[in-house]
Amino acid sequence: MKLAFLRCAILALGGAASITACAGDAVTPAAPTGRAASPGFTAPGPDISSFLSGALAREVTTEPCTLSGGAATTCYRITVVGLPVDHPVGPFCPPTTSSTAVEGGIWFDGDGLYDLDGEFIEGLALLYGDDNWLLYDEDGNVNVTAAREAFEGAARPDVAPEYQNHCVEGRLAWLPGGQPVATTVLIPTSPVAAAAPTSNARFLGVTLNGVRIDGSAPVRDILRAYTIAAFDDCGGHFNPVEGYHLHASMGCSGIEVDGHGRHFAYALDGYAVFTAHGAASGLDQCGGHDSDGLGYHYHAAPAAENLVVRCLTGEIAKQ
Ligand SMILES: [Zn+2]
Ligand SMILES: [Zn+2]
Repeated sequence: MKLAFLRCAILALGGAASITACAGDAVTPAAPTGRAASPGFTAPGPDISSFLSGALAREVTTEPCTLSGGAATTCYRITVVGLPVDHPVGPFCPPTTSSTAVEGGIWFDGDGLYDLDGEFIEGLALLYGDDNWLLYDEDGNVNVTAAREAFEGAARPDVAPEYQNHCVEGRLAWLPGGQPVATTVLIPTSPVAAAAPTSNARFLGVTLNGVRIDGSAPVRDILRAYTIAAFDDCGGHFNPVEGYHLHASMGCSGIEVDGHGRHFAYALDGYAVFTAHGAASGLDQCGGHDSDGLGYHYHAAPAAENLVVRCLTGEIAKQ
């Protein structure tokens, strides 16, 4: 596809620290703008039957939970499998400076969305105004993390010198046991509007096709190490700890709803997330609105913004 993406920062590291890194505290999105969420909106709770076959690692259960505002209620315990069940992942890094957009994924840095093709790789020094960028050798081969060790060394905040100036990509085979990493989350069965939106969350929700949605990729850390944490054309990538996860919505999956865009996820607060396509005007600061028949829901932000949902207007269960 012809966009530019970035890979997420993904990559995180080898331990819990990496989750933090990838999830986004290094990237501070611009303060949300727009209308404040209406305190009176309502929405149905998550419809578990909307998850695609194979997207759930185990049966969804219901249990007591406490929301961020202190209310006691019930939540669904949802475990997604950790890979999209309806489309393949990748490609991520372009192999050479002659590669076309088809051979690579995308990169997004909060300011723009780019195709990861050979031309993008050659233009990094100019794009980021730093002549230390050099992601390819004299034969035009792109420096790509070609082994698990390189992936784990580059997908972390403190990138070793030998892995700087690399395009970073992971593979399913390099995850623990060579298996997808499942993610479990508690989501309110009946969403409750919060007193104020929550932004900069590290974990935003789960998709109907089996993937976790993280907050912004830590682009500043990634670029500081002269790395590109490549995303595939669907806005996801691997890190060694979380496995495959999304940092942007590219409209690769979802259920078309009355010409309103595609419902593809549930946010942690229990509200549905739709693609940006078909979004109505008058969205609130988080990209949400309350529409007839659908109740309150979000529309994903443009991928260039390096996040799927700008903020969450509902209360979140203590996990
Ligand atoms: Zn990531
Ligand atoms: Zn809508």
